Amino acid sequence: MKLSSITFAGLLLALTPATVSAADGQKLVGTQLGTQCKDNLVLANAFDGDLTTCFYGLRTSDEYSRPWAGLDLGTKHVITRIGFAPSSESRSCSRLAIFQGANTEDFIDAIPIAMVPLEGPVPGQMYYIDVNVSRGFRYVRMVGAGGAQMNVAELEFYGNEGEGDDSQFFQITNLPTIAFNTPGMAQIVSKDDKHTGSQVYVISDDGTTLLSDNNATMKGRGNGSWAMEKKPFQIKFDKKKQILADAPAIAKKWTLINNHGDKTLMRNKIAFEMSRNAGMPYTSYCRFVDVVYNGEYEGTYQLCDQMEVNKNRVNITEMEPTDTEGEALTGGYFIEIDAYADQEVSWFRSNRNIPVTIKSPDEDEIVPAQSQYIENYFNTMLDALFSANFKDEENGYRKYLDLDSFLTYFLLGELTGNTDTFWSTYMTKERGSDKFVTGPVWDQDLAFDNDGRTFPVNDKSNFIYNYGSKADGMQNFVDRIIKQDPGAKQRLSFLWSTLRKHADFTPEYFNEKIDQWAQELDQSQKLNFTRWPILGQYVHQNPTVRYTYEAEVNAVKNYITKRFPKLDTLIGLVDVPDDSAVESVETDTDAPAEYYNLQGVRVPNPSAGLYIERRGNTARKVILK
Ligand code: CA
Repeated sequence: MKLSSITFAGLLLALTPATVSAADGQKLVGTQLGTQCKDNLVLANAFDGDLTTCFYGLRTSDEYSRPWAGLDLGTKHVITRIGFAPSSESRSCSRLAIFQGANTEDFIDAIPIAMVPLEGPVPGQMYYIDVNVSRGFRYVRMVGAGGAQMNVAELEFYGNEGEGDDSQFFQITNLPTIAFNTPGMAQIVSKDDKHTGSQVYVISDDGTTLLSDNNATMKGRGNGSWAMEKKPFQIKFDKKKQILADAPAIAKKWTLINNHGDKTLMRNKIAFEMSRNAGMPYTSYCRFVDVVYNGEYEGTYQLCDQMEVNKNRVNITEMEPTDTEGEALTGGYFIEIDAYADQEVSWFRSNRNIPVTIKSPDEDEIVPAQSQYIENYFNTMLDALFSANFKDEENGYRKYLDLDSFLTYFLLGELTGNTDTFWSTYMTKERGSDKFVTGPVWDQDLAFDNDGRTFPVNDKSNFIYNYGSKADGMQNFVDRIIKQDPGAKQRLSFLWSTLRKHADFTPEYFNEKIDQWAQELDQSQKLNFTRWPILGQYVHQNPTVRYTYEAEVNAVKNYITKRFPKLDTLIGLVDVPDDSAVESVETDTDAPAEYYNLQGVRVPNPSAGLYIERRGNTARKVILK
């Protein structure tokens, strides 16, 4: 419902402070626009020059609930300054409220241009914010702060008429800002609710870079995390895009992880760093961002890859529906051993009762020959694992399961203490290969001692997978390898001992990274925990609550400090060759470089981390930054 009336310029001028200079632009007038109000607290009250009258925008329970108030300026204007006064009753109502500029009347193309800071506005007094956005906008508005009613006594916009340019945008903190608008500001209320025709804006490089997509699809995502009040989202661009300059993939789908149960906001980030440094073939891209959702600040999120087949993601052959026989039928498949598999469309329950989701080929493209093949092949692997001669290196389960990637995945699960490690386990089977490769790691909300069911992890006498929740059948699966195959146990010690010799695989290395990330997150986490005041409250499986962000971060660091020596004991350290044992001769710089992880698996598109670089006949260890 939209209300409008004409603003009288003379009335507004009475309130303009004497300090406003010409450079600030002139005070702008226009047609008033806004949502429904409460009682007689009408929209015009926000523009009447009277600090004692206010507009009270209603926040209703329906899906189009966000209250807002603004102006149609008639023509495009570059906004230089915004003034507003919270009503005398309510200061908190306006904290984190977003101001937007747009060039369509329905604000579908709205971009944030300013935000009300945490400190500053005083109830019943004008507060001014300088705006440094170079694009011209015809429509401007203030949207009610996330989760709060809107109660504003006065609202003023200053600026100069003109188209402006796209050289400067507003970035909420030092982190990139991702803002998205769904048609009609419809809320994403169910996980499967797809909002096509959404607009997405990614603002980075201190506001100097803008990526936009005006026909994106926004939807919810996640399993346990979808149930939380701060929602996780998936972005699907109209066309493949590189979302930020440091993202390796060019892709349509990207995920915004909410990290709501993880009050450090960085458990996934830490685990991904460990995965990269352990030489896993692929680890998701990961970047902290601020999110604005239909004009509301929604907090700190983690921008990650969609878990999918892509040259710079899960890098296996993408199958066609016509790949139904011969070698073409043998891959590539991307599957997930998944306790939630029965909620998916494309899944099977294997022998040994293990539920498996088929991620690729996609559920709407896979053909029966393919789903039958991968189910049968998974069962072949299980039959080998549970056969009498399963330990046989040639003909046992190792013929079908790549041991090193499984063991490295296992080690990462133990290092992070992630109780979801075998609740959800990804695997790939590439075309022409006999073996399932385990990974990538994903979903680390409960890692680093964030699960009340297993806290404190370092006090447990055995590996954490014994205590964590697992998909059906996975206790026996892991036991068979870790407890019943001495050769695998020996290999586990070798892999752990090898990693432990590297400078980037120590408690000191990771704890220093954590300090850097806490610094990077500092501005944003303060906004996040104002939007979601959950410090000191139990969320999801939190084992304990702490009252500051710093205390949450320190708990993770303390866990890591203890976890490394604990695993040294549980796994057992063995002698491994020094790094210098890798044969190193004169580098043949003319030969093309190929990169291998420390398990000797070729990595086609290496991200940062430690690798073996081969050029022609030479090999050396290198750290890629
Ligand atoms: Ca007023």
